[in-house]
Amino acid sequence: MPKTKMLLDVENIRKDFPILKVKVNGKPLVYFDNAATSQKPKQVIDALSDYYENYNANIHRSIHKLGEQATLAYENAHKKVAEFINSDPEEIVFTKGATESLNLVAYSLTENLKPNDEIILTQMEHHSNLVPWQQLAKKKNLKLNFVEFDEEGKLRLGQFEELLNKKTKIVSVVHMSNALGTINPVEEIAKTVKEKSSAYFIVDAAQSVPHMPVDVKKMNCDFLAFSGHKMLAPTGIGVLYGKKELLEKMQPFQYGGGMIKEVTFKDTKFNDIPWKFEAGTPNIAQGIGLAAAVDYLNKVGMKNIMNHGKELANYCYEKLSEIDEVEIYGPKERCALVSFNVKNVHAHDTATILDGEGIAVRAGHHCTMPLHSVLGIAASTRASFYLYNTKEEIDKLAEAIHKVIKVFR
Ligand code: PMP
Repeated sequence: MPKTKMLLDVENIRKDFPILKVKVNGKPLVYFDNAATSQKPKQVIDALSDYYENYNANIHRSIHKLGEQATLAYENAHKKVAEFINSDPEEIVFTKGATESLNLVAYSLTENLKPNDEIILTQMEHHSNLVPWQQLAKKKNLKLNFVEFDEEGKLRLGQFEELLNKKTKIVSVVHMSNALGTINPVEEIAKTVKEKSSAYFIVDAAQSVPHMPVDVKKMNCDFLAFSGHKMLAPTGIGVLYGKKELLEKMQPFQYGGGMIKEVTFKDTKFNDIPWKFEAGTPNIAQGIGLAAAVDYLNKVGMKNIMNHGKELANYCYEKLSEIDEVEIYGPKERCALVSFNVKNVHAHDTATILDGEGIAVRAGHHCTMPLHSVLGIAASTRASFYLYNTKEEIDKLAEAIHKVIKVFR
């Protein structure tokens, strides 16, 4: 493996991922659940061990050598991530993940909103970019509007113009749908938002940053959220990018050690950005692991990774389209994932049979229940790919789906 010529040197990449040697039910693991979380290369695992074995210490507190080393590595991680998305290090807040990043921004930005102010989301948002806004909207009497998607699974872009008005204060949109694979034209949406309103524009980039070059300046978003664990890094680390002038104005989301400059019994002066938003001991090892993941992705090249993701998604789309009993969701142009159902078979049953073949997929609503309700289904099966996956593995998926069809015929 792999036999088919691919854009990436997948054969060598696979050698970096120890878990890919694991057998599942006696079969070689085919890991197609990358949209949930990616596997980790040795380089990332080694970076974690190196920190714990050689310079484990708390950061921004200790004058001793290990403390200095750990602080430098953690601050360097901010710099690496900043470069990776074309921003400045002080614009990079480390969080627990995309969910925490989106909650942080949702709380801070709705603080001064007035009843009947409006927020625009889309019908294809992950619960992380829907529930925080919904709950705050309820509390503060704000109005939520949703841009719809069409039969193909693409946003009805004209609806942004129709919905934007003076009361619109926030527009938050997923860059790449974790259920449909749709890549939304966020640069174009940002332009409309900025032309038609003074609203903040937020991008949920949890699925796009791992799979394509992302440039926050080009995108002209005010905030952008993503998770480390979907891009080769450990769990427990995520990123909130925010424009410097906005982060400086914003109230912190959590209070405690590390985020202060001076505290008296009466009052507190907050630290500079980004530390103002990183209260308490942060996820130091995970931040260092994220930097190693960024190094790895840069070495392979984000354009190459994007093209590989598109090639696999297209191949899977074509392969599954040939099977009459399979229904695919989302547009033809997509990256790195395909959600589908085998007609008259529950997604969980499909996933169970695939698991028997060593193929790990996700079955359920993928944290997009409202999106699934628009599709008129309760659940779907999702095969999602990354830089170590091959066309041969997709062939195995197609074969296994034929087994599913046979079992339920
Ligand atoms: N947004 C999207 C589009 C996602 O796919 C996910 C993860 N499935 C999230 C947000 C939330 O990410 P996390 O669970 O890492 O916080």
